[in-house]
Amino acid sequence: MTAYDPNNIFAKILKGEIPSTRVYEDEHTIAFMDVMPQAPGHVLVIPRDGSRNILDADPAVLQNTIVVVQKLAVAVKEAFDADGVYVAQFNEPAAGQTVFHLHFHVIPRHEGAALKPHSGTMENFDVLAANAEKIKAVL
Ligand code: AMP
Repeated sequence: MTAYDPNNIFAKILKGEIPSTRVYEDEHTIAFMDVMPQAPGHVLVIPRDGSRNILDADPAVLQNTIVVVQKLAVAVKEAFDADGVYVAQFNEPAAGQTVFHLHFHVIPRHEGAALKPHSGTMENFDVLAANAEKIKAVL
């Protein structure tokens, strides 16, 4: 498998070299708004530790990360009054991965509402910020 690239875009977000709309952070993990949301409230949960995806991740890192995925799933469901929550995680291009730092998509779902395409349209920053505030208010 290709080695982890410490200059990938999420590594730059972790280092504060490029901006993100964060909703949560702790010692091991951060969560921020996806800039091309598939539905309002689409967040990404990433470990601070660098791995390409689930295939090369340290199991201890996975344990810490999934607990935060659960926290964010519960929070986005409440913040967006959703009927369900979609959690997705892709490994390697053949599986749809486009950013090579382990991440989990957490997306609130409403009955009958289709998801927008993956990596589709860039959302307005003010909309992302307003949605982040809704999630932070629940957290
Ligand atoms: P994946 O295909 O699972 O690797 O998904 C990568 C996700 O990262 C996509 O949903 C993109 O919309 C999202 N994304 C890409 N660049 C950024 C960024 N700078 N900030 C937030 N989300 C991003």
